[in-house]
Amino acid sequence: MTWETVIGLETHVELATKTKIFCSCTTAFGGAPNTHCCPVCMGMPGTLPVVNKKVVEFACKAGLALNCEITRYNKFDRKNYFYPDLPKAYQISQLYLPIARNGRVTIQTGERERDIRIHELHMEEDAGKLVHDPWVDQTKADYNRCGVPLIEIVTEPDFRTAEQVIAYLEKLKSTLEYLGVSDCKMQEGSLRCDVNLSVRPAGSTEFGTRTEMKNLNSFKAISRAIAYEARRQIELLEEGKRVIQETRRWDDNKDATFSMRSKENAQDYRYFPEPDIPPLELSEEYLDGLRKEQPEMAEERKERYQKEYSLPEYDAGQITAQKALVDFFEATVALGAPAKEAANWMLGEMMRRLKEEELEPKDMKLTPENLAALISMVEQGTINRNTAAKVFRAIFPDNADAQAYVKEHGLEQVSDPVLVEHAVEEAFAENADAVADFKAGNEKVLGFLVGQVMRRLKGKADPKTVNEAVRDRLTH
Ligand SMILES: [Zn+2]
Repeated sequence: MTWETVIGLETHVELATKTKIFCSCTTAFGGAPNTHCCPVCMGMPGTLPVVNKKVVEFACKAGLALNCEITRYNKFDRKNYFYPDLPKAYQISQLYLPIARNGRVTIQTGERERDIRIHELHMEEDAGKLVHDPWVDQTKADYNRCGVPLIEIVTEPDFRTAEQVIAYLEKLKSTLEYLGVSDCKMQEGSLRCDVNLSVRPAGSTEFGTRTEMKNLNSFKAISRAIAYEARRQIELLEEGKRVIQETRRWDDNKDATFSMRSKENAQDYRYFPEPDIPPLELSEEYLDGLRKEQPEMAEERKERYQKEYSLPEYDAGQITAQKALVDFFEATVALGAPAKEAANWMLGEMMRRLKEEELEPKDMKLTPENLAALISMVEQGTINRNTAAKVFRAIFPDNADAQAYVKEHGLEQVSDPVLVEHAVEEAFAENADAVADFKAGNEKVLGFLVGQVMRRLKGKADPKTVNEAVRDRLTH
């Protein structure tokens, strides 16, 4: 039988506000445990929450960018559960009237476009962190993250493959970065996903029993967890067993999911309207103001790059997929680098290095100033392209000064015709066979001879000059 995988996503995104959602504590990542806290986010009796205006603004901007309807009259609800990472014993969230609903994100995988429907987007507060110390067999609570603002974005079960899920998350990440509403650092937990997954016979319209995998925070883990869980469910069904509706934990080291708790004894959150926060009423003027502030997003920018800079569609798409790349590209071009050159360096050497070092563009040290300087040295003939690629690799990790590096290592291009001529003479004397070969009609040796001359010049000569010099000598 052929099986179809059905996936829905719940994505939690930490908002990049300076302060928490209901108090004025900092949202900065890290810090000594329990130093970013106050009586409000510690849940002390008698304290009252006050909604951070910036959180509402960021949630609206995200909702608008994801083509949602904004719920102009929305409110908060209490989700009750007892767990030590939540000192109030309830989380303030939105259940009945979330701030945004009915959105849509268009994704592209291969040649195909597909719409992913957004069920809703709501605001809520993050919980603290429990730190397990195996040495003393203790668990300690760090409440710094308590009250950090989150939006949770819930899709309909519209995904069929892991590839579609990753395409959606990349688009979501890019959109939120363009808006500036989140730094989306997955390794710091700013963007994390719960994956709901079920399988059914291909062609069926009924849903199978689904499981939920919680808190996945890398694309790699998400892809592998989806592949594993789909296979696990298919094997169960093919053996005539049933899938149990439950929450499962993905273990990256063991490459498998494990049962956490079954829905059959799931807790009842006893939701009720949050009595300490009045409903939010958003005016049409307010929303109009936000609409006007929406930045130019990836798609429009991609089109503009093709027109304005004559970049090929593929290049424009690659750069505009990430805000950090856009910023880098525009800064490099503003410093005088030709757009096509800047794009080539970024999509070639830079991407290769980022991949090798498993770095995100926004975390690299290389600056647009330094890349622009390198490009300018090639343009002016100070160094050739091969040397430039070597320089790039050398300066990339710590943003060492490109010009200083070239000077220090004596990499300036050899343009003195006497030196080139001398190298040609030497190469010809030592490779008389090849020269004779050429004269006998074997044109292919030309490349070999050019290589020999380049080697004598330590690769620093202009390849065109060397080519001409070799050809000249062979034919005269
Ligand atoms: Zn606080």
